[in-house]
Amino acid sequence: MENIEEFDDYRDRVSTIASDGKRVWVYPKKPRGKLYNYRKITSLVLLAFFFLAPFIKIKGEPFLLFNILERKFILFGFPFFPQDFYLLMPVMIAFIVFVVLFTVIFGRIFCGWLCPQTIFMEFIFRQIEYWIEGNNVKQQRLDQSHLNFNKLWRKGLKHIIFYLISLITVFWFLGYVIGMDNALTGLREGPAEYLAITVGIIILAVVHYLVFAKLREQVCVIICPYGRLQGVLLDRNSILVSYDHKRGEPKGLYKPLEDRERSGKGDCVDCGSCVLVCPTGIDIRHGTQLECINCTACIDACNSVMKRINKPTGLIRYASERSIADKVPLRFNVRILFYSTVLIGLLTLIGFLFSKRTTIETTILRMSGSMYQEVDADHFSNIYVLQVVNKTRETMPVEIELMEPEGEVKMMGDALSIGKGEVNKVNFLLVLDKKDVKTSLTNVKFRVLADGKEVDVVNSSFVGPNSLDRN
Ligand code: SF4
Ligand code: SF4
Repeated sequence: MENIEEFDDYRDRVSTIASDGKRVWVYPKKPRGKLYNYRKITSLVLLAFFFLAPFIKIKGEPFLLFNILERKFILFGFPFFPQDFYLLMPVMIAFIVFVVLFTVIFGRIFCGWLCPQTIFMEFIFRQIEYWIEGNNVKQQRLDQSHLNFNKLWRKGLKHIIFYLISLITVFWFLGYVIGMDNALTGLREGPAEYLAITVGIIILAVVHYLVFAKLREQVCVIICPYGRLQGVLLDRNSILVSYDHKRGEPKGLYKPLEDRERSGKGDCVDCGSCVLVCPTGIDIRHGTQLECINCTACIDACNSVMKRINKPTGLIRYASERSIADKVPLRFNVRILFYSTVLIGLLTLIGFLFSKRTTIETTILRMSGSMYQEVDADHFSNIYVLQVVNKTRETMPVEIELMEPEGEVKMMGDALSIGKGEVNKVNFLLVLDKKDVKTSLTNVKFRVLADGKEVDVVNSSFVGPNSLDRN
């Protein structure tokens, strides 16, 4: 990297922390360009989803619900119960492997395009800031100016709107936790009725406000664990927003009519446009940096400069370090194919695990501490506890039948009917012919029927007298 070493000190410091330890506030110029427009559309779709999803219902149930307090979870219309948490571990492992592989191949694309922090910051809070305080230059001037009426009303209005948006966002999150119907009922009935929740919302809104009004890019650079992992996840083949130093260096100011090739200059005209738009305040020309969230704002900025000076676009582009060093275009190589196959395999595994999940879950256990009983000269009985979890959205009548050996099931109490999302228990007696109870522990097999259909087959055991008692 020809001229790159001269800037090597960037590796020893964070771009937003000055040598005296003070914060360097970033005033990014509003990006413009094709990729920015695509990001805007992506963000609008995701924001629309975030604000509309709590109102979507499927068969009367929310589309998404994460009610930790009542341990009720609904994912894309499918209710999940604490009994489903056995799925959590493989899904978590698959998810972690997915994140690692995805990052190894595609770098930090998630951060720039899908992360809520970036979407809220760039497409809500930053837009309001541009609207009230003006462009990046005006914002900087306003911050440096003495307190006057102009500064007071602009700053005041901005922070009031920031806090109101934070309140709305936290309230919407509450809609995901307790259901939007309940959240709106709470809103109608007033804060006095739900004092603890109201105080919680106000405090969380303050945290949310501070994240977007004060912390900003520091979340991505210092706090976010995913961002901190980049150093170990990325390698020379990862696809990142990269500056083509082979083509750009040595940089030199643009002079009309100059033959840059003959003057020994690269394509970078050192205009600084890529630095001006960067929300984390870095210069991508120094190489891959921890702070880069792959937002692509510098790509748009540089492309517009290249078009103006009649050079090919893509001086800054999505590329791997190796493809730039070897001057080869980015190709879908064996490594990407292998990792992508593993990613698809993992997603298939997660899909398979979810498809294998039963909607009625049954457990049949002999009542603890109970022994066999002699019903009459020809029969023994055991007492069992049947526990059923109904994970469907309908009330289910549940029955059990004995499959092996022959015998009789006698329910103790009313017929078992379980409401949607409920867990219920009932005791029953199993009566077997003595001739079928040959050992102290006889295997028995039950069929569980819900609404007349077989939903589970459960194995258990039947206690009988041991051989000494028989003699
Ligand atoms: S270097 Fe470019 S892609 Fe990275 S954060 Fe800055 S503007 Fe975004
Ligand atoms: S925008 Fe492009 S030409 Fe301008 S300084 Fe950045 S890399 Fe160089």
